[in-house]
Amino acid sequence: MAFPQTLDNSTSTSATHPRVNSHHVEILILLVLVVIGAVSIHFQNRLPAVLRATAPPSDFSAARALEQLRAISAQPHPIGSQAHTNVRDYLVSELSELGLNPLRQQSTAVNVKRGAPFAAGSIENILVKIRGTANSRAVLLVSHYDSAVTSFGASDDGAGVVTLLETARALQSGPPLKNDVILLFTDGEEVGLLGAQAFVNENPWSKDVGLFLNFEARGNGGPVFMFETTSENGNLIRQFEKTSPIPRASSLFSEIYKLLPNDTDFTVLKTLDAQGMNFAFLSGINHYHTSLDRPEEIDVATLQQQGSHALALAQHFGNIDLHNMRDNDVVYFDIIGQKLFSYSKTWIFPLLALTTLLFAFVVVRGVLTNELRLTGILIGVAALVGGTILSAGMCWFVWFLIQASFRSVPWSEPYYSNFFRLAFVVLGIAAVSAIYLLLRRKVNALSLVVGACLVWLLMSIATSVAIPGASYLFTVPLLLTCLSLSVLLVSKLRREVKTYALALFTGVPVIVLWAPLIYNLFVALTLNGTWMVVIFVVFPLGLLLPLILQVVSARKWVLPSVLAVVSLILLLAGTLVSGFDQRHPKINNIFYALNADTGKAIFASSDKTADEWTSQFLSTDIERGTMYEFFPRNDRVFMKNPAAAAALPAPEATLISDARDNGLRTLTLRLVSQRSAPVLSVYTEGDGEILAASINGKQATPVGKGSVRMIDWALQFHGLPAEGVDLVLRTKGEKPYKVLLVDRSYGLVETQGRAVIPRPPYMISAPHSASDISLIAKSFSF
Ligand SMILES: [Zn+2]
Repeated sequence: MAFPQTLDNSTSTSATHPRVNSHHVEILILLVLVVIGAVSIHFQNRLPAVLRATAPPSDFSAARALEQLRAISAQPHPIGSQAHTNVRDYLVSELSELGLNPLRQQSTAVNVKRGAPFAAGSIENILVKIRGTANSRAVLLVSHYDSAVTSFGASDDGAGVVTLLETARALQSGPPLKNDVILLFTDGEEVGLLGAQAFVNENPWSKDVGLFLNFEARGNGGPVFMFETTSENGNLIRQFEKTSPIPRASSLFSEIYKLLPNDTDFTVLKTLDAQGMNFAFLSGINHYHTSLDRPEEIDVATLQQQGSHALALAQHFGNIDLHNMRDNDVVYFDIIGQKLFSYSKTWIFPLLALTTLLFAFVVVRGVLTNELRLTGILIGVAALVGGTILSAGMCWFVWFLIQASFRSVPWSEPYYSNFFRLAFVVLGIAAVSAIYLLLRRKVNALSLVVGACLVWLLMSIATSVAIPGASYLFTVPLLLTCLSLSVLLVSKLRREVKTYALALFTGVPVIVLWAPLIYNLFVALTLNGTWMVVIFVVFPLGLLLPLILQVVSARKWVLPSVLAVVSLILLLAGTLVSGFDQRHPKINNIFYALNADTGKAIFASSDKTADEWTSQFLSTDIERGTMYEFFPRNDRVFMKNPAAAAALPAPEATLISDARDNGLRTLTLRLVSQRSAPVLSVYTEGDGEILAASINGKQATPVGKGSVRMIDWALQFHGLPAEGVDLVLRTKGEKPYKVLLVDRSYGLVETQGRAVIPRPPYMISAPHSASDISLIAKSFSF
């Protein structure tokens, strides 16, 4: 038998099946697939109804949580600020009111993992334990209560904090659980995961933990994803599957997350002998670490989803034996947010083998029946690879051009980014459909589809080997496609029916799995990652477009032309509506920096040009250059203008002791900010080597490294106590060297003339989302 003619060459028509009918059916199939894609994206992003404040006490009510969120995120509350102390006191009083007994863990923590300047700080974690009736191991719920400097911290991580508070309240009102539940409100997450570090290293409760759940945010809404787990997660995922009311999770996310620069407390908690899951919502990156991260901006339904998860999981894991939770790693993914599927990673290669066999069968059978030409398959491979490169390149270039008009947008993502997302998808489809229309008369549709399948197979093999968590994305749809192709090759259905069946059997699973993913990738990778996301748009097209485009003959260039125009209109619309106003602030920054050695002060900004706000400080004769006096090893170029020197005391380094023996020198210094600035940076300058350094007794050099060159060592201390901190430097050689201190406070205030003194709290003046920082630098020789 022969493969259906309609799969062969689009120009072939017959009297019994006139082209116009096929054409209509194909348009219908196309529409069905588009609708399925839209519905899948909708379901994936659907959020639960918000439970009111009058909901039963055993439920998680986002409305109740929102009340607490308003109290917590009334002001930016970075570590070391008064607002931060207020939030901590609020937490303690709320927990006490629930009849719990909150503890304060105070410590100095250092994190050297991100390189110099090493992050350090005086932290205070808040912990509370809800005792279980027959504890196996404890369930730990974690969120951080400090905010970023420029943010009110409503979503990041106020949402996590109130999730824990409301969960604790709901747990207290219900029957007791078997396991202990520990709530941990960490400090200093934003400046270097410091609180989590102190908990893991020093708190005895950390040894009791069997399972931990961390709640984070990188936006102000959208679905809450479970995006990271500890290893050997088979059992964990099965329990999650059973419990999660609306699961949004994929082993692909952990693989992508590894590529992103973001970090959370989870990174530190992973060193515990326990299993864990990490949750976050990502939509609205303009709210991340900006003055837009306010309680009135958060999507309350997102908070409801996060809370419902936290409560359901705490109750579930609170009642099962948490010993021996480990099991083989699994590949997992949700289908449009409705159901979670998982299979053991040991199945990856058998599935791949089965897919390869089916693919081989399709090729052999197709070639034997003359429906497939090997050259046609190779052209199919080239078409998909070429389409991918062309689309990704075009989108990268167009975005590069557009970006110039959005210089000061948070995270390079313009407001109303959906216009751009859709524009790039449409542009990708236009480019690929042009390629397939060009090839339409020369190569039969089946060969093109099978060629695309070969590319998919190669991706399936590559991901199975290199990024197993992402392998399902290629293997599962390809398996189904090859299965449909095999059945259709041997079946005796009418040829049109076969074509349509193939388009649907291939299209539906690919679209259900990929359409929500493409949307979420746009959100996760931002528009800067457009070129990568477009690759994900092009891949399914390789399987579908040859089938759909085969019948179009007259006016064949209408489709790509119309799509290109639509894309252009969308880009234009996005550019036009994405301006700045009160609700959509522009990002900028201004520094006031005083060099106490020279007595000279400047205003500076890392913006490219002065705008209406920064030009208050930077007006005439703007000089451009580095700020090595204040940021010694930072090559960034700033705009600078002279400023009046404020009458403020410089930070002070007092010699406590200076011991020398056998060519080694141990210097102990007391470092103080005389104006009580919350942050102090310390740099050493000289050609010596630092063998060891410690701050308040905590090691401040990387473990396992023999020594650090002086010019490579630096430390930034957050939450600086009024009495200061003790720094011990052990160095090789007895030569004198320089210690540079730069203290930092947030906010500026104008007095008469141009004199400026730092002031708390934080000034964030709309329509700007600004960081304004005052620095005083002073160097010492020892
Ligand atoms: Zn955070």
